[in-house]
Amino acid sequence: MPLLVMKFGGTSVADLDRIKNAAQKVKREVDRGYDVIVIVSAMSGKTNELVGWVESTSPLFDAREYDAVVSSGENVTAGLMALTLQEMDVPARSWQGWQVPLKTTSAHSSARIEEIPRANIDAKFAEGMKVAVVAGFQGISAEGRITTLGRGGSDTTAVAFAAAFGAERCDIYTDVDGVYTTDPRIEDKARKLDKIAFEEMLELASLGAKVLQTRSVELAMRYKVRLRVLSSFEENTETSGTLVCDEEEIMEQNIVSGVAYSREEAKMTLTAVEDRPGIAAAIFGPLAEAGVNVDMIVQNISEEGRTDMTFSCPINLVGRAQSAINKARDRGEIAFGSLVADTDVAKVSVVGIGMRSHTGVASTMFRALAQEGINIKVIATSEIKISVLIDRKYMELAVQALHDVFGLDKAA
Ligand code: ASP
Ligand code: MG
Repeated sequence: MPLLVMKFGGTSVADLDRIKNAAQKVKREVDRGYDVIVIVSAMSGKTNELVGWVESTSPLFDAREYDAVVSSGENVTAGLMALTLQEMDVPARSWQGWQVPLKTTSAHSSARIEEIPRANIDAKFAEGMKVAVVAGFQGISAEGRITTLGRGGSDTTAVAFAAAFGAERCDIYTDVDGVYTTDPRIEDKARKLDKIAFEEMLELASLGAKVLQTRSVELAMRYKVRLRVLSSFEENTETSGTLVCDEEEIMEQNIVSGVAYSREEAKMTLTAVEDRPGIAAAIFGPLAEAGVNVDMIVQNISEEGRTDMTFSCPINLVGRAQSAINKARDRGEIAFGSLVADTDVAKVSVVGIGMRSHTGVASTMFRALAQEGINIKVIATSEIKISVLIDRKYMELAVQALHDVFGLDKAA
């Protein structure tokens, strides 16, 4: 039997009517001849409520009990979805993570999937079950405790099941109808992409296009799971939504596929850093140990043995970064003049696999920003991405200017 994985996010299962609507989409695929594994999120808002209950009960909570509580939202929707399908005469049953068992590491609240044995679910398919409804976001550790995969983790559950069961495709049903060239709330000419390559989606996901959990895209890329993002509120056809796939599957493509942004950035500068071999390691080692994920790094030319070192990091980690660097100074590992944090910045990036084979993307980008009078504070590039840090008040303007200059409102 061909098999599909269908994942429904929180807004798609927000109440009993929406669960029924989602179940109808599942039944349609069963009627077409598929066996289906359905992955469900908690009803929208539920996980936040559960997290709130945990934090109010115990500010420095035991992460194992946090997982026990916050994983429960998915259990409710899994059972309700199975019941709804049964009411439609579709043979279905629910599975909690531990029943599969979906085995994970013991890193509570951010566990990683280690193994999904197929035997239990395959046995039920062999007996005539048509739909396995699996609670997303959760698993079981080697110690036998319930774990969760981090916020947004149901996407990763879905992709992992698609890989383990060799699904034809993994359909991610959500409240938007696909992946856009940029955020339509900022640029009304933003266009839905029919296809996007894994690598591009990975960059866009990690840059804050919050459609898919980043880990799910990494996993999809590694196992070549074709992912489709589509709306659960529309009547879909074979070509609805956005297909996230291998670049070989994409024929026509703009050089730049999307413009991403992140408001939650900060720029930190260490002035007059003593310039000597090992200084970068002495700064960024302690930052990494403190869990500060640094993104862009710039080291200035040095004068009289001193240099400025600038880096960007998520704004909520500024305090942690400051304390890690000050501690390194107190230990005598680094010497510098001052540590300056600029928290009024935003990051804007253009992403596209076409950049590998086309030159001039950077100069086009910089010229477009210059024409709007936007000053660039830091630049970073990778093979398929160019990012700049700018004053946050110009973020919308920058996104619009870049969307326009790369012609993203028009298909290739
Ligand atoms: N319910 C979980 C969350 O809100 C997992 C998910 O929906 O992906 O993060
Ligand atoms: Mg989500």
